[in-house]
Amino acid sequence: MTHDDPNVIQPGRDPTTFTGAAISPGVGMGPAWLVVDLLKSAPDPVAIARDQIAGEWSRILTSFEQTRRELEDSALRIEEQFDATLAGIFRAHGMMLDGILSSGEIQRELESRVGAEAAARRVFRRLHERFMRFKGPTLQQRADDVADLGRRVLRHLRGVDGSSLEHIPAGNVLVVGRLLPSDVVPLSRRGVAAIVVGALAAGAHAALLAREKRIPVVAGPPEIVHRIRNQEELLVDGSRGTIVLSPDAETRRTFQARREAFDRAEVCRRGACREPAFTLDRELVTVEANLGAHDDVELAIDNGADGIGLFRIEQVYLARALPPSEDELFEELRALTAPLRGRPVTIRLLDVGGDKPMPFLPLPAEPNPSLGRRGVRLLLEYPQLVRTQLAALFRLAQEQDVRILVPMVTLEEDIREMRVLFDATRETFPGAKRPPFGAMIETPAAALGVATIARHVDFLSVGTNDLAQYTLAAGRDDPAVSHYYDDTHATVLRLLAIAITDAPGVPIALCGELAGREETMPQLLRLGFRSLSMAPGLIPGAKDLIRSVRLGERRAKPAVADDRGQ
Ligand code: PEP
Ligand code: MG
Repeated sequence: MTHDDPNVIQPGRDPTTFTGAAISPGVGMGPAWLVVDLLKSAPDPVAIARDQIAGEWSRILTSFEQTRRELEDSALRIEEQFDATLAGIFRAHGMMLDGILSSGEIQRELESRVGAEAAARRVFRRLHERFMRFKGPTLQQRADDVADLGRRVLRHLRGVDGSSLEHIPAGNVLVVGRLLPSDVVPLSRRGVAAIVVGALAAGAHAALLAREKRIPVVAGPPEIVHRIRNQEELLVDGSRGTIVLSPDAETRRTFQARREAFDRAEVCRRGACREPAFTLDRELVTVEANLGAHDDVELAIDNGADGIGLFRIEQVYLARALPPSEDELFEELRALTAPLRGRPVTIRLLDVGGDKPMPFLPLPAEPNPSLGRRGVRLLLEYPQLVRTQLAALFRLAQEQDVRILVPMVTLEEDIREMRVLFDATRETFPGAKRPPFGAMIETPAAALGVATIARHVDFLSVGTNDLAQYTLAAGRDDPAVSHYYDDTHATVLRLLAIAITDAPGVPIALCGELAGREETMPQLLRLGFRSLSMAPGLIPGAKDLIRSVRLGERRAKPAVADDRGQ
């Protein structure tokens, strides 16, 4: 993907208002930064002279060589951090690249007097379409591989390094058809005014990362992406789900006032947020932050976070072209957590798969990714990946109050096997401080079997985003079933009650989006939750609310026992 050349804005275009889904609150305004697929959209090719062909061919050779080197670097790092079979896929891509070059197709295109970029695009596109015509997952996967190779070559031809999303000029509104978590990771509230996306479900990882970063987001209507012209002025209200194109002066003033009111409300709520939150009957509730990225640590502290309840380590991986080595991971996490100055931080091991594909990881496509090799399943398949993370985290734990969390545990065997890897790492750090070891409870099986999982851990953390998707059988990233995806549903709350009752004596936190929903917070506290982790912007309001709640007599356990007829 890259940024298209700006079109000229036609003066006097009527303001047009669109309504989509309100995905991340806040108000943002600025020129549109349209992101397009390098392989699909192209300016009309400019004809070149015959004596330019040799120069263009040499540009092609250079870009292929750069791509080949990039693939070999990936293969080496993947071999070190994952395994040789996975690394082999990059080497196979290198061979595919050689095949394309020696087929003579690109030269033929150059002979027809188009430049290197247009020639490469035509050839890769043709090949992609050829594979797409065949049915079956292997050939479809091959089509994706060709498209990926084509984009790599085109990026080198254009001289664009990595994701162009990092290069958005500050204050622009990102406009994109589809938003992946890896797209959101490099963005920051300071850099991007808002995001308009063709389609996105509120439960998708990309959506919650945007909320954690406080970037306003509106999704849809689907045609919106084609209606917006590059650099056209946009007003985006992520709280109401509205987008205004080319606004008139009065609409602009209204939005400006709304944006100021939103920012003022946020500042006002911060008042007592740095103090601990006690209920009216003096029960302490810890309110921690889910951390989006580096610059959000200060934001979390500013908003009164008692610690970091969930740091998704995949953000470090997603922001990189190659998976980090142990030293790189340690250094990055150390820099990231330094501003915490002693506050605890729960770092979750890599949770990829589902709606979080890793750009550098060529895993075969799965028929149903959310039910496939996600989280701990993938970790156990690549123990070297676990060892790297655990070693970096043990090192960090000697300096910071670190807790280690395992994602997507379903069965007792999952956590038992992870515990073996954890204990083995511990032996390599004799005499070192041992960080607490915990499991996420985010599948119905884990909630129902929490007692067996609790035997192997020091703490638990409930992930209601996944728990809701698996309980209600509704993909969190599928806008078509959003009406089924309700994390406040009685069936989800009932599983929470079971999780908290069946693991007595094991500290349990809640770090899904539900933790920050004010309407359900008193109920969560009455169930027995005393540790909640949420987007930093929600912490001041949550602490205010907790201070107004009286829990009353006994809470969770008797109620749940009654509920379950015991
Ligand atoms: C969850 O599932 O609730 C959770 C916190 O993890 P994630 O959103 O990263 O899947
Ligand atoms: Mg989860």
